[in-house]
Amino acid sequence: MDTNTDSQSESSEASAERLLYTEDLAAELAEHSRRLETAAPEEIIAWSVERFFPRLTMATAFGPEGCVILALLAKIEPRTHVFNLDTGYQFTETLELRDRIAAKYGIEVELKKPELTVEQYEAQHGGPLHQINPDQCCHDRKIKILHDAVVGMHAWMSGIRRDQSADRAKAPIVGWDKRFGLVKISPLANQTKSDIWKRILEEGIPYNPLHDQGYVSIGCWPCTRKTSIGEDERAGRWSGQAKTECGLHSLEFEQGGGI
Ligand code: SF4
Repeated sequence: MDTNTDSQSESSEASAERLLYTEDLAAELAEHSRRLETAAPEEIIAWSVERFFPRLTMATAFGPEGCVILALLAKIEPRTHVFNLDTGYQFTETLELRDRIAAKYGIEVELKKPELTVEQYEAQHGGPLHQINPDQCCHDRKIKILHDAVVGMHAWMSGIRRDQSADRAKAPIVGWDKRFGLVKISPLANQTKSDIWKRILEEGIPYNPLHDQGYVSIGCWPCTRKTSIGEDERAGRWSGQAKTECGLHSLEFEQGGGI
């Protein structure tokens, strides 16, 4: 078998499936981002499905925002691909929430795992890398996996909100994510934290019970702590380190018409 030819044809198939960021696409994204600027999340998700399904995906860490999007997808297009970056360091409560979502909405969030287990990874690095080099740990256990997870996709949705942090304040509703070569849609960007919790409580949407114990933003357990009243919403993530984002939502995007 000619493995060289096989891998060349696989890579040309993958590149043929890629969405190219052209001037026309930039203009289209800018127009829809402007049009949807004050739209409700359901309208933004419905447009995303109509425009990109089945090449639409969503990454969720089962935060309140992700749970709201899952509840909306259940009504709009439950076959939308949704995945979780299962680093091996997630809280048990987070993984149990995946099962509760599946039972309630029939959406099986796919767990995408790194090649090495936590035990193998820590043995390779002589201990937990998240303690000394969390950027590398996030890169190995999240970013690389996300790159693989989105092959063949044209757009991804995220649950980021502009009022979560200064980093996220400029997130467009629809933009081009340079880092992953995908259209990025943030259907909750124009929502507030209280909008999200109001919807969760009114509609009985399942959420992570750790939120009732003082955890506001929940990621991997070694890099998450409870926060106090008045602290920034993401202050409990990588606390004590300069890091505030894992790199998934770095603002390397373009909105076509500018923001
Ligand atoms: S959040 Fe912490 S444990 Fe999780 S991948 Fe990043 S550094 Fe590693």
